[in-house]
Amino acid sequence: MAFSIVKEVIPKEELRVIEPPPPSRRIVELIHEREYVEYIESESKRGLHYIDADTYVNEHTFKVALLAASAAWNAADVSLEVRAPVLALVRPPGHHAGRSGPAMGALSNGFCIFNNAAVAIRNFLGKGLKVMVLDFDAHHGNGTQEIFWHEPRVLHIDMHEYGIYPGTGSVNDVGGEGAKGTKINIPLPHGASDREFMWVVHEVLPRLAEAFKPDVLVVSAGFDSHVLDPMSTLRASDEVFMALGSFVAELVQHRVKGAVIVLEGGYGSALPAGLRSFLRGFSQRAVKERVLIPTKGVWARDVMSVLERFWGIELRG
Ligand SMILES: [Zn+2]
Repeated sequence: MAFSIVKEVIPKEELRVIEPPPPSRRIVELIHEREYVEYIESESKRGLHYIDADTYVNEHTFKVALLAASAAWNAADVSLEVRAPVLALVRPPGHHAGRSGPAMGALSNGFCIFNNAAVAIRNFLGKGLKVMVLDFDAHHGNGTQEIFWHEPRVLHIDMHEYGIYPGTGSVNDVGGEGAKGTKINIPLPHGASDREFMWVVHEVLPRLAEAFKPDVLVVSAGFDSHVLDPMSTLRASDEVFMALGSFVAELVQHRVKGAVIVLEGGYGSALPAGLRSFLRGFSQRAVKERVLIPTKGVWARDVMSVLERFWGIELRG
């Protein structure tokens, strides 16, 4: 389904389809503990069952999850080669998977097996590149954040609904020793809609990109913050996803030399709607700048104070 939306929005002459390389265990062992990889392999052999309250595996899971991770790794290589963004349409999703499964004290893997975005990030880091990570899934990317907690070359910006699964992503979580200020958590209040999202997209993201000067970009693209999605109370409209798409296009055009966009969550009709809008914004790059001032939320003031403290960025609230 996701692929048919890509074909619908992106003109044929601008689209190249790449098959993933054969699944590689070595690649996932660069970011996950070997014991965890072995655990998934043996659980997968046992056939269909739940490994925690919301994550299931079946006899194909190990191979398919390795394949997804290999696709993300390869996407980073291809993106640098052709100097164009690569969209990794992979399943299962990955951003909740930490070094050895549930991350930062979460109770489950949240449908994730191996962290595809982290694999792409790791590939870029191995080439000496500075990576900006944008995670706009409705849930906090706790796995990715845990894996690169102490890595100052990874600026991880994560917008998510605060107080839902996995329960992490406080604005005060800014990274470990030596990497403080490189983990920017933007915990949105329940029911946040275009006002809040547009402020982040137009005010926060460009300023951080300007300050960090990334070489490459990795996007954890989840569409469960879309107003049609049943998994969160966030109410981002199609316009928000178009603005996110055009922000990414802008970065790709002017600032970074490679970009990987990895599919994360998105349920019901939110996934096709959000993905379609994101790709439209990406390909048209014509969304009018529209800065909306959020309600005087404590959340926005907290985000502003982190940006000021670590990056010297002063924003309007
Ligand atoms: Zn999600």
